[in-house]
Amino acid sequence: MRKIKCDVVVVGAGPGGSMAAKTCAKYGLDTVLVERKEYPSKPNSMGCLVSRRIAEYVHIDKKTTSAPIYGIVQTAPDGTEISMREPDGYEVAYVLNRDTFDNELLKITLKENIEYMNRTRATGLIREDGKIRGIEAKIDEKEDVEIRSNIVIGADGVEHKIGRWAGIYERLDPNDAWVVFDNLLDYSDIDEHTYYQIIGWRSDGKVMAYPNAAWVLYPKGEGKTALQPMPYHSLGWQKGEAKNALNYFMKNHPLFKKSKIIDVGGGVLPAVPLKRFTTDNVMLIGDAAHLNMMPWADGVMTAIESGVFAGERAVEACEEGDFSSEFLSEYEKRWNRTYGEKKMIGYYIAKLAQALPDKYWNIFCHRLKEDNAKFTDELFKVIKSPKLISKILFKLKKEGLEIPDLLSFGSLFKKYYRNYWDTFFE
Ligand SMILES: Cc1cc2nc3c(=O)[nH]c(=O)nc-3n(C[C@H](O)[C@H](O)[C@H](O)COP(=O)(O)OP(=O)(O)OC[C@H]3O[C@@H](n4cnc5c(N)ncnc54)[C@H](O)[C@@H]3O)c2cc1C
Repeated sequence: MRKIKCDVVVVGAGPGGSMAAKTCAKYGLDTVLVERKEYPSKPNSMGCLVSRRIAEYVHIDKKTTSAPIYGIVQTAPDGTEISMREPDGYEVAYVLNRDTFDNELLKITLKENIEYMNRTRATGLIREDGKIRGIEAKIDEKEDVEIRSNIVIGADGVEHKIGRWAGIYERLDPNDAWVVFDNLLDYSDIDEHTYYQIIGWRSDGKVMAYPNAAWVLYPKGEGKTALQPMPYHSLGWQKGEAKNALNYFMKNHPLFKKSKIIDVGGGVLPAVPLKRFTTDNVMLIGDAAHLNMMPWADGVMTAIESGVFAGERAVEACEEGDFSSEFLSEYEKRWNRTYGEKKMIGYYIAKLAQALPDKYWNIFCHRLKEDNAKFTDELFKVIKSPKLISKILFKLKKEGLEIPDLLSFGSLFKKYYRNYWDTFFE
């Protein structure tokens, strides 16, 4: 059996694992990056929107992105449109081309002194004297290898096997699993640089064309569009419902009548982070720690930034010679200090959006339109209407959630966001 020794082994070469390995190696740690496939195997997403902050980490060009985004159009159930644009005409976000983006990020990572082992699947953890001492893996599903290290960084995506083996496992509540369907269309009549959200679209202006659906559109360049039907009154679709909703929408909506589906994707996004994502000798990052930011599936930036945080903590741990849960958990605390409140806000926005009856979606969008997408006190009066609050609380209770303190949620929300635009692209 082949045996390798290093300071840190990172499992998974997606955006999170790449950035964690790069950070460790940049500061001199002996780093091994293990990927089970030939190249990173990104989740099956056709539309992947990321904030412009991504350009801090990877060179953005036509290869890595299919379209820079300059604005958003949101349509309410009654057809009211709110259109928002960056005043100076800068890009605010990008639709990534994940096939090339993940490989490009890995290429940058491998400029550091890293031992990259692709086609190598982690199969278990090495344990000695009750401590985790690295991983066991298989190369090409044939050759066994033992990679001994002081730290294991689990960047293995939603499957999060490293977390399970290390005992950091929580069953995902179905209410907190966001099921996403993704379709790539050959053509649609939309602006190539605008991100669209169509909420509860009605084909005849009176009858709901397909209940419980919002439609998210990502321009993909060359006329192509990724279309995600989202169930906005719950996180999950019933069996077959997404397909029916999609067929209905494409048959009836004027933008898509001529479109054909050329590829399909989808997946499950956990909406709630693990309670703990570190233990002795182990840190989990990105999807492996369920850190995806609701409600915008901001998983790529989240994976990248958690990778940097965990990498930096790994460097400090090696300097101090302390690999205990207590020492490593500073990464977790730093994450929660930086993003915890925003994550909590995002989670409740998603839950509230699902609980918001169409009538209030319309009122909400009218008010936003009148106030130029600013969050004014008038808007908060709509949200605080006692009738609406009782409806929302009833719905949230049915989902088995603890009743959130809506007023403190409101003030926390105001701390971060001044207008609707910020909630998308800040
Ligand atoms: C349908 C859909 C739409 C999405 N839309 C968006 C969006 O619009 N914007 C956005 O930012 N995010 C979006 N996401 C989320 C985003 O794709 C993820 O959050 C992001 O890829 C997480 O990165 P990661 O590095 O944590 O994990 P991953 O990208 O999942 O990478 C994990 C890597 O680990 C490897 N691996 C797994 N197990 C092992 C093992 N045992 N041994 C070795 N290697 C292993 C895998 O092969 C893979 O390369 C979407 C996801 C889906 C499913």
